[in-house]
Amino acid sequence: MSDFSIIAFAGARSVGRKSLPERNPCHNQVMRDQRHRDLSLLTKAHLHLHFTGSMRQTTLVDLAAKHGVRLPSALLEADPLRVPADERGWFRFQRLYDAARACVRDEDDMRRIVREAAEDDAAEGSGRLEIQVDPTSYAPFVGGITPALEIVLDEARAASAATGTEVAVIVASSRMRHPLEARTLARLAAQNVGDGAGEVVGFGLSNDERRGDTQTFAHAFAIARRAGLASVPHGGELLGPGHIHDVVDALHPDRLGHGVRSSEDPRLLEELVSQGIALEVCPASNVSLGVYADDEQVPLRTLVDAGATVALGADDPLLFRSRLVDQYTTAREVHGFGDHELAHLARGSIQASRAPESTKARLLAGVDRWLEEPDGEH
Ligand SMILES: [Zn+2]
Repeated sequence: MSDFSIIAFAGARSVGRKSLPERNPCHNQVMRDQRHRDLSLLTKAHLHLHFTGSMRQTTLVDLAAKHGVRLPSALLEADPLRVPADERGWFRFQRLYDAARACVRDEDDMRRIVREAAEDDAAEGSGRLEIQVDPTSYAPFVGGITPALEIVLDEARAASAATGTEVAVIVASSRMRHPLEARTLARLAAQNVGDGAGEVVGFGLSNDERRGDTQTFAHAFAIARRAGLASVPHGGELLGPGHIHDVVDALHPDRLGHGVRSSEDPRLLEELVSQGIALEVCPASNVSLGVYADDEQVPLRTLVDAGATVALGADDPLLFRSRLVDQYTTAREVHGFGDHELAHLARGSIQASRAPESTKARLLAGVDRWLEEPDGEH
């Protein structure tokens, strides 16, 4: 697929979304302030992005050709993935994800993915990226989980210097693997703990929420937390409030990957807010995975109105065909967020990051500058 066709497709998708009402040219400055600023210039942090899932489609095609891997046609399509929120739907998503991951086979591939994720984030106004990687997936090609993680950390440092977007790393364990493997990963993550570029800031748990026993991962998360890592498990996307209670009780999250289903239980949502547990909300992911029928159904308003700290994220743009700025565009165009509310979301993402205070202050000042300029030019 050429660059052009992807660009053409990106345009088509935004046309397909609920568009803004026709604006009367006589509308006043307030209206301009509400709608006109460029969202790619809004300073923000990106806290929910997976390593393989961050890949550009063009890069995936390159890597498949390089390694002689035949890609499933669904990975070459322009349309975002759409599956039902059941086990079959998840299986389809996972199969495609695995097919993409099978194209990542050496150090150069891994470095390219980190570098391009940083470049894409930088182009979208993200000053801080916390990218999730499960090093076990790439370990066979580079001599083990330690070198796999070292490659990602080393490139994260280099990409941060090159792009100006600070790239930190979350080591993610999987619900599909033995909980003892999660402990090994937590120990590896703990050895690389820090808050800056090329350091490990958090420990995650991903894959199908319906699989595995959350409690059995508690020990791994205790290791991670003791080392000073943030606890950032997935929870509350495919399953509802009961599951979120389990995750909160067992894993003591600082942030929940998704957590959108907390909207179904006001008391639970209030608890999350009072405990300061931020939500990494990924609207395109929710719709692609069938959790909500369309963008309108994503309960972004409910979460924000309840006082939750929300960090919008893209999750797996490779499959959902929707990057970071697209999530803010959805908030603006579908959920009616004005620029002050979008700035509030951006501040939430920065505050919920594990960035050093100096970075947070710099990024928050960027948000203020975006609001000061009528068209966000600075
Ligand atoms: Zn995710």
